[in-house]
Amino acid sequence: MTASPIAEARRLIVKIGSSLLVDDASGQIRREWLESLCDDVARVRARGQEVVLVSSGAVAVGRRHLGLAPPLRLEEKQAAAATGQIQLAHAYQEALARHGITCAQVLLSLYDSEDRRRYLNARQTLDTLLRLGAVPVINENDTVATTEIRFGDNDRLAARVAQMISADALVLFSDIDGLYTADPRRDPSASYLPEVHEITPEIEAMAGDPGTGYGSGGMVTKLVAAKICLSAGCRMAICKGEPLRPLTALEEGARATWFIPDGSPRTARKQWIYGSMKPVGALTVDAGAVRALAKGGSLLPAGVVAVDGDFDRGDCVLVRNADGRVLGRGLIAYASDDARRIMRHRSADIAGILGETRGDELIHRDDLVMEG
Ligand code: GLU
Repeated sequence: MTASPIAEARRLIVKIGSSLLVDDASGQIRREWLESLCDDVARVRARGQEVVLVSSGAVAVGRRHLGLAPPLRLEEKQAAAATGQIQLAHAYQEALARHGITCAQVLLSLYDSEDRRRYLNARQTLDTLLRLGAVPVINENDTVATTEIRFGDNDRLAARVAQMISADALVLFSDIDGLYTADPRRDPSASYLPEVHEITPEIEAMAGDPGTGYGSGGMVTKLVAAKICLSAGCRMAICKGEPLRPLTALEEGARATWFIPDGSPRTARKQWIYGSMKPVGALTVDAGAVRALAKGGSLLPAGVVAVDGDFDRGDCVLVRNADGRVLGRGLIAYASDDARRIMRHRSADIAGILGETRGDELIHRDDLVMEG
């Protein structure tokens, strides 16, 4: 690697573990550390990069507040999260406001990453927040999630978010400075790996068993996150978050394991659309749209002359020219009924026709894969 992936990322996600943010003895939020992290966030944003935070700590803060002692039952954890999350959000709001940055709380559940419509909604909301200059602060929606539908760990949640919003880099700040061939706390001969390109069975074996693996959230969940990131074209780091200004430290060469994918988030997304999505409808486009698409543009409703099939928002549809030749395929932002109502119309008229708009494009260029 040449420059730091942190400096190169257009869209960066930073995941903060509970043990960094919350003082273990008192259950208080470690303000000085949080402020130093937010100083880093402000610095990175001032360079024109987008930042999303995924923060744990709701349960750790809330359980002290409610006087609950571990082990907590699921409903106690949920109660703790309900009160802790308010304090967490408030702390981030204050720390970011020192830099004039608006923060936005987003609570996600597993369904939001698995159900296509919810996934698209979450993606669009996060895109909009970033466009408006806010810093989303994400956590799992712990109060409603049951065991079966919980991520349970924010490593995985952060990786899913990275995939969802096509982030270029994810940093997992925790209490371990990287991946080792064995648990370095128990095995002094364990050696550290600076860079990983593929999660092989050997790499997986290095993480140890779930629960007993090293690092507070366990190395196992971090490797699951790394797998998701590698397939999504997102670079991921496992790194110690303890120092003040941890992002600066990482950028200046603090020890970390970087997981480096072959492609970019863009190519990964296109491969996923091409390889895993079955087209369930088709759009016929006019000559103007054919030209716009050939130049790499998005597909606007004005260029669509026919809509075939019955499909939902987020489904995959084929794009054809007037002769019926397939030009490409993509994820459509409007359901078939709505698409029929807005085809041949200017994007500015969408809200007037449908009563709401889900964006100017029928298929955004990032969601479109052209043939050969
Ligand atoms: N969502 C949990 C919380 O905020 C943390 C999950 C994790 O530790 O990864 O307390």
